[in-house]
Amino acid sequence: MAHAARQAKRIGPAAVLWIARAALDFVFPPTCPLSEEPVGQVGRIAPAAWARLTFLSEPVCDRCGYPFELDPGEIRVCAACRVRPPVVARTRSALAYDEASRPLVLELKHAARTDAVATFAAWLALAAGPCLREADWIAPIPLHPARLRKRRFNQSALLARALAQRSGKPFDPDTLGRRRDTPSQGGKSASGRRRNMAGAFAVRPERKARVTGARVLLLDDVLTTGATLDAAARALKAAGARAVDAVTLLRVIRPRDISV
Ligand SMILES: [Zn+2]
Repeated sequence: MAHAARQAKRIGPAAVLWIARAALDFVFPPTCPLSEEPVGQVGRIAPAAWARLTFLSEPVCDRCGYPFELDPGEIRVCAACRVRPPVVARTRSALAYDEASRPLVLELKHAARTDAVATFAAWLALAAGPCLREADWIAPIPLHPARLRKRRFNQSALLARALAQRSGKPFDPDTLGRRRDTPSQGGKSASGRRRNMAGAFAVRPERKARVTGARVLLLDDVLTTGATLDAAARALKAAGARAVDAVTLLRVIRPRDISV
């Protein structure tokens, strides 16, 4: 053991890590988190699985990131955002939520596969663009402590930490808290989701100074109607945030329910 430690010291920690990883890759070759095909590097998506993913890109709604099929010209705000302007200034998402991309989040949520988090962080950085560059710090959508205990980890926090590491922006999972555990959003209308999330978040009073005047980038795994992000942004703005942007890994694409 002492000999191994001396040996490790001599060849350096980076080399030890490299050797450990190479040994692990030999025993458990890295596989694609979507198709389980072998891939050359941990976190890689196999080409066939990659081809099925729909990455979102311009032109999108300036506010919510909804992808326009055609260039909208001068008015770059979608109908839903004109009827009900979101609290979040700009939301951007990396991929469309569909049959091909859904397993990415399911695997992450159930902690079975977290090896692709660095890949996701690269996609999130690209999607967030100026929202990331202009952010003072990055906050994940928090889970209620009771849910966190049950699930053991928050997948949005995992993504936010990886994005922070990649970009050099501060990661802050503690300032925004969840005041109450909310019933599942599944099956609820847009207005039902808004009611469900109302008052769910609050800035911890002892951390208020961190929020005052700050531009915060929120991170969530999936955007459905934007009700969760808006509720979180409302809490941050009530505590003095200058602006709140958001980035999500996946985004449900469908005509949005603009009923009140
Ligand atoms: Zn919009």
